[in-house]
Amino acid sequence: MKVLVLNSGSSSQKSSLYEIGETVADDPPAFLWEGKIEWHGDIAEAEVKNSRGTVQRSSVQVLSRAEAVEHLLSTLWQDKTRAVASAAEIDVVGHRVVHGGPNYDAPVLVTPEVKAEIAKAAHFAPLHNRAELDGMELVEKLLGPVPQVAVFDTAFHRKMPQAATVYPGPYRWFESGIHRYGFHGVSHQYCAARAAQLLRRDLDSLKVVTCHLGNGCSLAAIHESHSIDTTMGFTPLEGLMMGTRSGSIDPGILTYLIRQGHLRPQEMDDVLNQESGLLGISGISGDMREILASMKQGHARAKLAFDIYVHRLRAAIGAMVAGLGGMDALVFTAGVGENSAEVRDAVCQKLDFLGLKLNATANVQRAPDADIAASDSAVRVLTIRAQEEWAIARECWHLMRRSLRWTPRIPA
Ligand code: ADP
Repeated sequence: MKVLVLNSGSSSQKSSLYEIGETVADDPPAFLWEGKIEWHGDIAEAEVKNSRGTVQRSSVQVLSRAEAVEHLLSTLWQDKTRAVASAAEIDVVGHRVVHGGPNYDAPVLVTPEVKAEIAKAAHFAPLHNRAELDGMELVEKLLGPVPQVAVFDTAFHRKMPQAATVYPGPYRWFESGIHRYGFHGVSHQYCAARAAQLLRRDLDSLKVVTCHLGNGCSLAAIHESHSIDTTMGFTPLEGLMMGTRSGSIDPGILTYLIRQGHLRPQEMDDVLNQESGLLGISGISGDMREILASMKQGHARAKLAFDIYVHRLRAAIGAMVAGLGGMDALVFTAGVGENSAEVRDAVCQKLDFLGLKLNATANVQRAPDADIAASDSAVRVLTIRAQEEWAIARECWHLMRRSLRWTPRIPA
């Protein structure tokens, strides 16, 4: 089964093509084709790779997101990166949908009703959900009547207990949909399952805290295979300090700034999402690599940014452990989680009261996926490569096998 995955951002689009046979491999397989396109104004930069090792970079002028994505997808069946003879070879398309609203707790086949629900949830995540709906329409145009699957970033958190989802404001907020949804669910769910596999344990028997530390950052506390708490909430702004997002701050700051007439709603949104976090404190960058480099050169605000990031991350891990009543495994994933031995070391140092001990050499030297805890640590510490596209492809495969008597669109 050839599965195409679309992961839409507000000004970028990532996409991968996988082939899955009769069974799903334990280890994530190599992609057949992978592409990314980013656009700023009317110029889009694309980078595409295929399984033969061909890499192609291009810069094109585009008038819309649809044109940019169409350019990216055309390299699947054209040019030297081509991975299929024609669009008709693709059997199913999976979409990462950031906000599934209150109803979806599992992937679903895309129907007009599902699209209407995704459009409704766009009130909560306007940039993302609209981009994902555009992606679905473009697939219909380019690939014809191929089955499409929506995989929701909120779904994994839908079984969180109400104590973790309801905000302690007036109860009518909850009734009108203002509650904690949680995000990065595809990544947290994949990492928890992968951790159980690496530890040769049943996930149902494990208490796991997964740390997704990319440009956006969130934690999940996982018990009996479900998320029971997470740090992001109504929007992906709650919780940890991130690259350019503040994470949780005293809501009184916002009412103060409104009263003083300093910020209008859109400006507030921009400040909290794009001008805060590592960038806001350091004044240098939201990229952890640049923060670490500047810190080593003695830049005081870069050091402060790092210290706040670690302080809040460690405190949030503590809250997750308290909710779980213990922790068997701590997982680090995504750009910072996979690559920054400094962040992992700083966070874990004060978790020794849990019996958690890092293997200092493994922390620096071992590439993910790896167990980097000392042999006598009471908690296993794992680095796991983020594989959101592969996790979505796998969900599509399962759904197709379950819900349809699947036959290839083009028989082999
Ligand atoms: P996204 O959340 O957009 O998918 P990633 O998971 O790729 O992003 O994470 C991007 C972030 O990872 C970068 O902004 C950078 O801060 C961080 N990062 C990547 N490589 C390293 C590294 N070697 N050391 C520290 N941080 C890194």
